[in-house]
Amino acid sequence: MTRQGDATYYDGHTAKPHKVRVDVQSEFVLVLGPDGDTLAAWPLADIRMIDAPVGLLRVRLEPDDGARLDVAEAMLAQTLMTSCPSIKNRGAIERADKVKIVGWSAAACISLVLLAIYGVPAIARGIVPAIPMVVDRQIGASVKSNIAAQLSRGRVCAPSAAADTAFKTLLDRLRAASNGRIVGDVTTILPSPVPNAFAMPGGHVVLLRGLIDKAETADEVAAVLAHEYGHVAHRHSMHKLVSEAGLYFLLGVVLGDFTGGTLIIAGSRAVLSAGYSRDAEREADAFAVELMHRAGGDPMALSTLLERITAGRSPGALSILSTHPLSEERTADVRAQLDALGPVDSPRALLTDAEWRELKRYCAETSPGS
Ligand SMILES: [Zn+2]
Repeated sequence: MTRQGDATYYDGHTAKPHKVRVDVQSEFVLVLGPDGDTLAAWPLADIRMIDAPVGLLRVRLEPDDGARLDVAEAMLAQTLMTSCPSIKNRGAIERADKVKIVGWSAAACISLVLLAIYGVPAIARGIVPAIPMVVDRQIGASVKSNIAAQLSRGRVCAPSAAADTAFKTLLDRLRAASNGRIVGDVTTILPSPVPNAFAMPGGHVVLLRGLIDKAETADEVAAVLAHEYGHVAHRHSMHKLVSEAGLYFLLGVVLGDFTGGTLIIAGSRAVLSAGYSRDAEREADAFAVELMHRAGGDPMALSTLLERITAGRSPGALSILSTHPLSEERTADVRAQLDALGPVDSPRALLTDAEWRELKRYCAETSPGS
C-alpha cells in the first residue's frame, strides 16, 4: 500500500498552493514541507472528503480551518480513502449529497415562483452558480447516454490498446497543461460519422469519430477538446440547459430526480441544438488557445480545422459548423490573443506520428456498448 507521495496543500490563510509530501500513518496524515518540516498533522478521524474535479481527491479537516489537501496520485488517494473512517463510509457521503440537494430544492421552489414572475433566462444566470457540481455530473451522465443512443445507436468504439494509449496520452498532455482547470474530464469518442464534439454538464465531453476523420493532426483534435473543456469550465451547457429546460430542470430539483425522461430529452436537445451565445464561444475559444499554448501545441489548430471543414462544406445540421460557425471576428479574436501570449515555448506536436495514426483508427472496431 502506498503510504507516501506528493500532494498540493493550501494552508487556509493564503490561496498559494504548496507542493508537499504526504505520509499516511496509523492515526495521522503528516503534511511535510520541502525540508521535511511538518506543516500539518491531521488526525485520520477528522478528515473529510469534499467536491473536487474527477481524478482528484480533495480533503479538509473537521472543524474546517480553511486548509485543503489535494491528492492526484491514484495509489496515495486510495490509501487515504481507505484509512479515513468518514471517507471509507461512502454511504455517508452519498447521504450528505442528498442533504445538499434536498436543502437546495427549497431554493428551487422559491425559484419556481420567481420563474413565473421574471422568466427563465434571468433565473438561469442567477441559479447556475448555486447548483452543486454533483447535480451537473448526474445530469451529464444521463444526457451522455441519451446522446450516445441517438448518435451512434448505443454503439461504442472498441479501440486497440495502442489507440487507447494514444488517446490517453493526448488527454494527459492537455490535463498537465491545464493547471487543474479541466473540470471532470470524462471524454468519450463515439463512432458517429458526424464531424462534431459536445460538452455536457459535469465535464462529460463527447467527440464524434467524424471529427477525427476530418482532422489532419492530433493538435486539431486536441484543440477541439480544449474548446469543449472551455465550455465545461464556464458551465455553459448548464446555463443552456437551465435556460432551455428551465421548468423541467426545476421540477427535477423539487422532485430530487435528475434522471427523469423529460429533463434528459430537454437536456439532450440543449446540448445538440445550435450553439452557444457568441460570448460563450469567445470564452471557450480563449480557454482553448491558452491551453494549447501552454501545452506546446498549435494554438491555431482549431481555426485550421474549422477552415478545412468550411471549405469542404461538410453538410448536415449536426456538423460542428452548425454549432461553431467560423467567422472572421472569431479568427481575429484568436490572433489577437496569440499576439498577446507571444510565441509558444518549445512547441511540439501533441502526439507523435505513430500515436496519431493509432488515434485515427480509434473507432475502427465498435461494439454494442453496455
Ligand atoms: Zn463551442
